[in-house]
Amino acid sequence: MNFTEFGLDERILEGIGAMGYETATPVQQQVMVPILQGKDIIASAQTGTGKTAAFLLPLVHKLITEPHDEHLINAMIIVPTRELAVQIAQSLEGLSYFTNVSSIAVYGGGDGSSFTAEKKALSTGVDVVICTPGRMIAHLNMGYVKMQALRYLVLDEADRMLDMGFHDDIMKIISHLPKQRQNLLFSATMPMKMRELARKILHNPEEINIAVSKPPEQIVQEAFVVFEPQKIPLVKEVLRKRNFQSVIVFCSKKQNVKQLAQALKRANFSIEEIHSDLEQAQREQVLLDFRNKKLKILVATDILSRGIDIEDIDLVINFDVPNDGEDYIHRIGRTARAASEGTAYTFISEKEQGKFAQIEALLGHPVTKAEVPKEFGETPPYNPRTGRSGGGSRGGRSGGGHSGGGRPGGGGGRHGGRPGGGGGQRRDNRPHPKK
Ligand code: AMP
Repeated sequence: MNFTEFGLDERILEGIGAMGYETATPVQQQVMVPILQGKDIIASAQTGTGKTAAFLLPLVHKLITEPHDEHLINAMIIVPTRELAVQIAQSLEGLSYFTNVSSIAVYGGGDGSSFTAEKKALSTGVDVVICTPGRMIAHLNMGYVKMQALRYLVLDEADRMLDMGFHDDIMKIISHLPKQRQNLLFSATMPMKMRELARKILHNPEEINIAVSKPPEQIVQEAFVVFEPQKIPLVKEVLRKRNFQSVIVFCSKKQNVKQLAQALKRANFSIEEIHSDLEQAQREQVLLDFRNKKLKILVATDILSRGIDIEDIDLVINFDVPNDGEDYIHRIGRTARAASEGTAYTFISEKEQGKFAQIEALLGHPVTKAEVPKEFGETPPYNPRTGRSGGGSRGGRSGGGHSGGGRPGGGGGRHGGRPGGGGGQRRDNRPHPKK
């Protein structure tokens, strides 16, 4: 679904374009319309699904298209950690870049000057406050926070907030808010205590469940962190090293399928390719040969990642990192069917590290990074710039000249900052000025 279909303001569409989003993710498709209609929402959606933009986009749309007092606080997003507060503030800054929406992240741990800046924003008014519960209460206790016009409340990662013991703090903050408001609650899990909290806070909510499937446990998942030109030689190496009987190699683009297929054919592997340029009859023949084990290796685009049911595939290689976690799960789910064991390798180039870290966030654990054979020489470190899971420099045989991950110039990955701008962490706590 394209973002133009939601009826969002032009200025927001510009921000979305600048952030590089093309189509709405499943959670965005499901929650944006009811939020725009003014409904309360309870949504189970994990990190990595695009849930932040799912609530920010309709929120910004409402703020800029409906009359509101700029000198009061209009929306509050309560989150468990300062990292999440900073991340949401960055996404908001990127998505609302072409609007005049102002925001501030309010979280503990800063110095006296950040407290003063927060105090100023909370007392003179700011459109959106993104806060951790403890710090917000510290401000509320001082009596200057202008809550009387607040119309939107978001609780993000609500299950984590309950696990961290923030229940009473959240209820205390809410006791300061006007009763007439729209409430949005996001949580990765829905334990009983979450339902109880929801009953206290939400009015007649629409329930949305973005079930993210998990890959079967018998799949051995490993990832190779490499430079892009090392990928084709590594496919050959992997295929030579172990005698896999039935292998699918997934590429995100047709050109990559063709290039890789050609290289493998030249090296005398039993391989065919499948992509949308082939006639239906050709595709069916290739699939039949693969099913009948006449053909050992298939190189394919994502058209093969769903639906096809071929048993006994013992290896799936992701030549390119899939675009999202769901695609990853579908691709690797081609192996280890019918309770057999399977292996899934993913090749991660430098520019794909951020994308892979998001997949790891969705899986809920990092994927083991396999050793690239020594004869391949230098490899990049795994150092994704998402500010989230899987971080840290691991492995790699960098020897000068190569920096790990991220865009040149330090764009801060897909997590935002200003579109087209430097990104990076927004450390100051001042609301960004109305443009
Ligand atoms: P979240 O689950 O909100 O933490 O988002 C995960 C990542 O997906 C973030 O880096 C977002 O910038 C990115 N993202 C959110 N929505 C989209 C989209 N529609 N298309 C591409 N990337 C997106």
